[in-house]
Amino acid sequence: MNGLRSKKNYNFVYISGVECGMPQDKIVVVGARENNLKNVTVEIPRDKLVVITGLSGSGKSSLAFDTIYAEGQRRYVESLSAYARQFLGQMDKPDVDHIEGLSPAVSIDQKSASKNPRSTVGTVTEIYDYLRILYARAGVPYCPNGHGPIERQSTDQIVDVAKELPEGTRLQILAPVVRGRKGEYKSVLQEINKAGYVRVRVDGQMYEVTDDIPMDRYKQHTIEVIVDRLVVKEGIERRLTDSIEAALKMGKGLVTLSYDGASREGQGQDAPATHRLEADATGEVVDVLFSESYSCPECGFSMSDLEPRMFSFNSPYGACPECTGLGTKTEFDPDLICPDPNKPLRNGAILPFVYKSGEVKEWWPEMLDAVGRAVGFDASRPVKEIPEKGMNAVWYGLSEPITVHMRYGRGERKFNTRWEGVLASLKKRYEQTDSEWVKNDLQQYMSTKPCPVCQGRRLKPEVLAVKLAGRDISTVTNLSVEDCLAFFSGLAKKLTKRQLAIAERAVKEILERLRFLENVGLGYLTLDRNARTLAGGEAQRIRLATQIGSGLMGCLYILDEPSIGLHQRDNRKLIETLLRLRDLGNTVIVVEHDEETMLSADWLIELGPGAGEHGGKVVAEGTVEEFLRSGCETAQYLNGEKEIEVPLARRQPRTPSPV
Ligand SMILES: [Zn+2]
Ligand SMILES: [Zn+2]
Repeated sequence: MNGLRSKKNYNFVYISGVECGMPQDKIVVVGARENNLKNVTVEIPRDKLVVITGLSGSGKSSLAFDTIYAEGQRRYVESLSAYARQFLGQMDKPDVDHIEGLSPAVSIDQKSASKNPRSTVGTVTEIYDYLRILYARAGVPYCPNGHGPIERQSTDQIVDVAKELPEGTRLQILAPVVRGRKGEYKSVLQEINKAGYVRVRVDGQMYEVTDDIPMDRYKQHTIEVIVDRLVVKEGIERRLTDSIEAALKMGKGLVTLSYDGASREGQGQDAPATHRLEADATGEVVDVLFSESYSCPECGFSMSDLEPRMFSFNSPYGACPECTGLGTKTEFDPDLICPDPNKPLRNGAILPFVYKSGEVKEWWPEMLDAVGRAVGFDASRPVKEIPEKGMNAVWYGLSEPITVHMRYGRGERKFNTRWEGVLASLKKRYEQTDSEWVKNDLQQYMSTKPCPVCQGRRLKPEVLAVKLAGRDISTVTNLSVEDCLAFFSGLAKKLTKRQLAIAERAVKEILERLRFLENVGLGYLTLDRNARTLAGGEAQRIRLATQIGSGLMGCLYILDEPSIGLHQRDNRKLIETLLRLRDLGNTVIVVEHDEETMLSADWLIELGPGAGEHGGKVVAEGTVEEFLRSGCETAQYLNGEKEIEVPLARRQPRTPSPV
């Protein structure tokens, strides 16, 4: 339905003989007989918030979902091309004479928001998509080895820094060709000479390249070629650009600007320096190292250009390779394999080595004896008495071969073998077997734990080292919607002008969606919360928030008791959200018992009077005022004349808050 954006589209799609050319201000249902409905004819005003209420079993859902929604869906499918229809299948016409004024129908039920195990609140609401764009465009990569931010500068940006030095500043442009590496580098110096450069700086000292420069092959050295020396003044831009380009080429993407310390004023700490050489910064001469690629000038760690897909745990470009982006690892668990440490190691402590009969599987006891002999413990002792070093060998294996003593009838045979450990043996068996039965049997010894490499954060370490206002993407998705709102609301102050210009649009989209979530009472959810673990009401409200975010108009939304499980305070916000959906130009039909929702509706319909066979009729309809005067069951309740019992019993308690 995404392609249909304007009201006009829908009318075009839904033209029938009756509706043609006539503006529709209501949906007219004639002769509805689904389930227990008794030939119901009812008018529902369009572009309004309509509540259908009544006892449980009175026929509310039969009217809202089985008739109106079902027909809306059916007509939608019929309006599609034959090609599209073949994928959707035939839909049965509900038992109704006819319905006029119907719009494309969107049902927001309480079914889980997603079946994909990788879906999170962030992905189903599209917030994560915008986060990925935001981090790719405005994020600052940090060296994962702890060397601080690695920024990238274009030649132009580096030239700008040089140009802004005070006039008269003496400036040297250096190309770092060797950085902190052992060696004598005779051939490097020869090549510099051949390339026509005269001066080099070796370990901070100036030399002519033809000098006999003392370099100890066992010590670390830094060699920089002096590409140019000049004095800052008007009209040097051309020369600056050429020299910086030449230096970047020689320095494989790195260039050092070295200038008089006195010029440091006015340059300030805000200069977009990739890295400052602290020792020099305190002395007379200031060195600033720039990099035109994302690479750490300290350790050489380099990173390709940031792309949105790198921040996706569903993409091989971003997913932690250890857990393939799931954040968890299911592995053999020593506590499940050996639940009783009072049992002797060789005789039954390791459960997968024991048959159902209680007998220990052949050759395992002898293997464990051999491990004991190799490490120095007695494998016939209970597990709790075996030293840690011994149990480590049992679980994780030994690098040296062990000697196994096998007894056969009369004699004993010895042989050497490698002991890979219980965990690795089980893993191998699990991976190599073709038998589902064996796999199922072994699964009882496995447990699911946070991935040891990414600690459940699902992304590669270098991706997690990309930060925005000091936070990586995983830290942000770990925040609740409320905290996230606070973070993004205050983000502008923490970003540079450039970052801000790039980030603005994505931040706006993110903030909007976060507010929708807060408005439907979901401020406590974290963005990384697995969508499958959401309660029905939560999933429904997320879909509601997503629908508002999509900005569709001219739709018919049908919701089933959206207030369920919602705290009183949040109920008002939910109602405001429903009204907002209406104000966007949609018809919102809510099946609901909630008093506040009913009183906020534009139109109320009660089905009844009883349940099942005794229901299925419209007993009252109208605006809130008309409805309250109708004397129907719900009106009596709303007027405080009667306590209503059945529907309330179906509700979850309002207090305390589910959070
Ligand atoms: Zn580094
Ligand atoms: Zn991982």
